[in-house]
Amino acid sequence: MSYNVNQALSLMIDWAIQKGYTRLSKKELLKSYEDIFHTSFSLEEAVSLSKEEAVEILVDFGFQKQCFHPNTVSERDAFEALLYDVIMSSKEEMRQRFVNHQPKESDLISLYQLSLDVNYIKEKRNQNNVSWDIQSPYGSMSLTINLAKPEKDPRDIKEAKDINIEGRPKCVLCKENEGNYWNARKNLRLIPLKLNEDTWYFQYSPYAYYPYHSIILHEDHIPMKMDRSVISALVDFVDQFPDFMIGSNAEIPIVGGSILNHLHFQGGKHIFPIENASILTSKTVLDVTYEKLYWPISTIKIQSKNKNAFVNAVMNVYHHWLHYRNEDLEIIPFTNANHQTITPVIRHHHGKYVAYIMLRNNRTSILYPEGIFHPHPHLFHIKKENIGLIEAMGLAILPGRLKEELMDLEKYIYQNGSLEKHLNKHVSWMKTFKNKEHIDLHAEVGYRFIEVLEDAGVFKQNSQGQVEFEKFFKSIIKTT
Ligand SMILES: [Zn+2]
Repeated sequence: MSYNVNQALSLMIDWAIQKGYTRLSKKELLKSYEDIFHTSFSLEEAVSLSKEEAVEILVDFGFQKQCFHPNTVSERDAFEALLYDVIMSSKEEMRQRFVNHQPKESDLISLYQLSLDVNYIKEKRNQNNVSWDIQSPYGSMSLTINLAKPEKDPRDIKEAKDINIEGRPKCVLCKENEGNYWNARKNLRLIPLKLNEDTWYFQYSPYAYYPYHSIILHEDHIPMKMDRSVISALVDFVDQFPDFMIGSNAEIPIVGGSILNHLHFQGGKHIFPIENASILTSKTVLDVTYEKLYWPISTIKIQSKNKNAFVNAVMNVYHHWLHYRNEDLEIIPFTNANHQTITPVIRHHHGKYVAYIMLRNNRTSILYPEGIFHPHPHLFHIKKENIGLIEAMGLAILPGRLKEELMDLEKYIYQNGSLEKHLNKHVSWMKTFKNKEHIDLHAEVGYRFIEVLEDAGVFKQNSQGQVEFEKFFKSIIKTT
């Protein structure tokens, strides 16, 4: 065992030096590892170990030496992150790098490679995800069953490693998470950004829902909001990083992401299905083109070369929507709280600014306590969570349980097996396609996802909904 550990350690150190990730000497690195393991090592050349095998050996050894406890996935992740932290530039060195120069796109790309190399982005686990596309009247839609996010082990929950413990960051997005041991953020590195004259930080998502899936977080723990400063910050980001898209989730519950108490955006390098949606109506006023999209989530696309006109146009759509009322369509902007907002996504394309402005309403009713414009209960067997910007753009992130459930359903359908209890939630769904000659379950899930998006859409895909959407669209143009 110790023979292997010496080899594994040697490999880690050589790898880091060769990659240029550390300025420390072999001797200094060895000393750091000896402090972590409370033991002394003698480096030996590694013959045929991969870096992944080496890390595995070291994590096992760490458990054996009682460096962490219990031996759960999250505890192992946290210890692994610590092992990588030793061979990375410190967060202070990282900050120093950007004191006198603004980060460039190449800096974001380097951080991506680093985050992959030190397993901050869980590439190997992400490869277990199941992804597919389906064709629909709206164009191609993408679906992913996400298996990368490990389910909480009850033993971890018992350890109560949660927020609200003194000295810990206020939430999982706070910049203070960088270098934290307890939630496996030792190997997290942030790049500071200036957006709209404010300080923000750029990092990658460990669960990479799409290429370069990144999170841009405000330096302070302040709540999500929607106003001109948000749109200006998004525009500023694409000016600095023209190959990236960026979007903000809604600032109100039900129609936004899961974290509302820390202002943040999501970015990345990916073309989403919404970007291929067909255009129903198009109108150019001065420098700005407004387009009404054929898309289940009611969306207005804006394009302009003129930055100021572009931001004004986005704000114009937002303000129109904020006060728009149509009781026949259940669209009521205020009751005891504001119910309307937008999900904006912005990118550069062919020298123009492009915005996808998705119209949202989070009102609930007795009939739909989870949300009128939220997936309705008959779809909960596929998707119950909020429809945030990624899904609103046509990329479904489905719960990990579905992988097994779909396999069991296939067995049930094709081998006349018995319907196990955990599949009961799918029974009425299966009735909807039981007469089809050939059943493609993954495609059926896709059609269900489209219903999910249609439920979240404010102007429905019927003649009344579309007539009213056109009127709303025209009312925006009239006032520009
Ligand atoms: Zn926070």
